Amino acid sequence: MKSTDAQRGIFCNRTLNLNAVRAIGYDMDYTLIHYHMEEWEKSAYNHLKSLLSLMGWPLKDLAFDPNLAMRGLIIDTEKGNVVKANRFGYIKRAFHGSQPMDFETQRRLYQRTLVDLNDKRWAFLNTLFSISEACLYMQLVDLLEAGVLPGRMGYSDLYHKVRQALDAAHMEGKLKAEIIRRPERFVDLNEETALALLDQKKAGKKLLLITNSEWRYAAFMMSYAFDPFLPDRMTWRDLFDIAVIRAHKPSFFTRPMPAFRLVNEEGFLEEHLGPLRTGEVYFGGNAQLVEKSLGLCGEEILYVGDHIFMDVNISKSMSRWRTALVIRELEEEISAVHMFRQDQQRLSRLMKKKEELEQKSAFCRLQLQRSQQEYGPPGHEAREIERTMGETQRKLFKLDAQIGPLAQASGRLHNPHWGLLLRTGIDKSHLARQVERHADIYMSRVSNFLQYTPFAFLRSQRNSLPHDSPGEYA
Ligand code: IMP
Ligand code: MG
Repeated sequence: MKSTDAQRGIFCNRTLNLNAVRAIGYDMDYTLIHYHMEEWEKSAYNHLKSLLSLMGWPLKDLAFDPNLAMRGLIIDTEKGNVVKANRFGYIKRAFHGSQPMDFETQRRLYQRTLVDLNDKRWAFLNTLFSISEACLYMQLVDLLEAGVLPGRMGYSDLYHKVRQALDAAHMEGKLKAEIIRRPERFVDLNEETALALLDQKKAGKKLLLITNSEWRYAAFMMSYAFDPFLPDRMTWRDLFDIAVIRAHKPSFFTRPMPAFRLVNEEGFLEEHLGPLRTGEVYFGGNAQLVEKSLGLCGEEILYVGDHIFMDVNISKSMSRWRTALVIRELEEEISAVHMFRQDQQRLSRLMKKKEELEQKSAFCRLQLQRSQQEYGPPGHEAREIERTMGETQRKLFKLDAQIGPLAQASGRLHNPHWGLLLRTGIDKSHLARQVERHADIYMSRVSNFLQYTPFAFLRSQRNSLPHDSPGEYA
């Protein structure tokens, strides 16, 4: 597969027959509508800064750095660190505040620690909306240590203050008003998304919009992003059988939240009892009510979202909906891996050679031990073994000098500080583990459905296991 094809691929963790899916629910922000992350997050960051400055915090010299954090990293709120963990939860890279942590400190601090996302100590960066929060928190840890923030606070108090302010920035009208005022600056329009959804609708699937955004913002954004690309005066309202605004995910999937029907465009609401009706917009409601109203069971519904916890983890674990995760960064990640492929092949060859030499060295050591302690089958003389060992060590030394720069370059792919999103070294990252656990399929954008049609049978691949032999494994 070419890298550009792969960037627009749909990747399958669990086989999904799109033909058998009767309804598709869509999240809005960063799913149906993609934002220029740097612009959106810079605005969110500035609003966040303004709110915290009201408490007398001296923040005017701080500036948003979009590379300081990425999705899938984890904030250690107890220690003021941001970490990248592998699929088992072992911490492989860490920053304290905005500075990289040296290997020794990291080892000392975390050698007995495994990340457990159920523990409140760890805050997982679930979505692109988390980048401003992480960036500011990292910079504020520096200020806290410099003693310039007022009052007595620990790292965890500081994190909760940032979170509260971020909630407020998202909730209060100013940030959203700024986006609405200049949508062309913030929204990354994609006319193909409308066609992908039309294909699904015309193929007989019910389409649902289920967003946590509020009415005014969602109505504006949906109209901005869809109406110009729909045929014959059709609007986004005609595209969706049911729209749920302010859905309060994850509670939408876990609790019997009441539904309110939107009575007019100004946002007037009335309580709604009974099944949800086609063509209406609702506030709140819940997943069970959606299933009952459509007469469908969980696995006939596919939910597509960008938030790892709210959109795919909870919808799958609580409602057994089929799940699709949208990770836009995947396009850059795939491209970075593709560009590095020749160096990667060289690195793999060198590592294989290193493994062989290490094994040779270990066997020499064992022979020497047997020879010196006079046991085991007869072997070479100690002097001869020592000579081979010395030679092997010299070769290993030379090899390391070649491996070092390549391994470093590989660790800087995608993000200069953190490397790839879905890998830590040769292992899967913690993010990759979350994706494979909770998302049946994943892709960079909703319009990737166009490459597959609404009738596709998406099959997961046979996974490799460490004992598989490459020759036997197709
Ligand atoms: P959805 O992705 O379409 O469900 O919408 C996400 C909504 O949640 C958007 O309106 C965001 O502004 C809002 N949002 C994102 N992150 C936060 C947060 O950290 N606190 C509060 N609201 C948030
Ligand atoms: Mg979203």
